Amino acid sequence: MIQAIDLSKSYGQHEVLKHISLTIPAHQVVAVVGPSGSGKSTFLRCINGLEIITSGSISVNDHLLQATNKKKERQKIIHAIRQDTGMVFQQFNLYPHKTVIENVMEALIVVKKQSKELAKKMATELLKRVDLQEKEGVYPSKLSGGQQQRVAIARALAMEPQIMLFDEPTSALDPELVGEVLKVMKELADEGMTMVIVTHEMNFAQNVADRILFMADGQIIEDAEPKAFFAHPVTERAQKFLAKVK
Ligand code: ADP
Ligand code: MG
Repeated sequence: MIQAIDLSKSYGQHEVLKHISLTIPAHQVVAVVGPSGSGKSTFLRCINGLEIITSGSISVNDHLLQATNKKKERQKIIHAIRQDTGMVFQQFNLYPHKTVIENVMEALIVVKKQSKELAKKMATELLKRVDLQEKEGVYPSKLSGGQQQRVAIARALAMEPQIMLFDEPTSALDPELVGEVLKVMKELADEGMTMVIVTHEMNFAQNVADRILFMADGQIIEDAEPKAFFAHPVTERAQKFLAKVK
């Protein structure tokens, strides 16, 4: 479903991702962990075309994006990839002047060209799924961070993505609000959603992910089952990292 082949990304002289090759099959839940600055966010952003890759290729649902693509071609492919992927960021980025349900309806009306009625029906269902049906008429500023992030997840799900990308979705939350967001993410995983999750929540990674990618210096230096990774990290980098975060 996601395949990177010899993918590299540089900012000027700085090579941030170095020759990454990997395949993520459908329905797999992958946790990406590693020290700050190792390229986790950049990798995630390369998957849905938020960053332009410098060399190699990335294929998402058979939409093949190559570093050699011309601009017009690239935009077309990225558009197709974005139709299939939802992304949730550390900052929730909700529209402050729209209510909760309007935030979820927006993409349905603007991108999916649905009628207001149908969009409302779908948005209501999605809000139920993230346990926020009571908040549909409320503005984001009146919600806790955990509630706002759950709205952001509902909004991403409105596009009916086959893949969900999460970049530290709980890092901006007060500790007591982390659990409610992870719960929604676990439910998505249990339903078989393909997910790539950059996270510092090691318990969640261990319990929910099928696979751990440990990144350091722009490379995936460990690719293992959670049990093996957390019990016996192979590299010194991973051992040191785990000693710090555990
Ligand atoms: P992580 O998410 O693992 O903390 P990032 O992917 O955000 O790491 O960053 C990897 C490296 O790329 C860092 O050294 C960062 O400073 C650099 N970087 C990220 N975005 C940019 C950018 N837009 N311009 C220049 N350098 C960047
Ligand atoms: Mg990051």
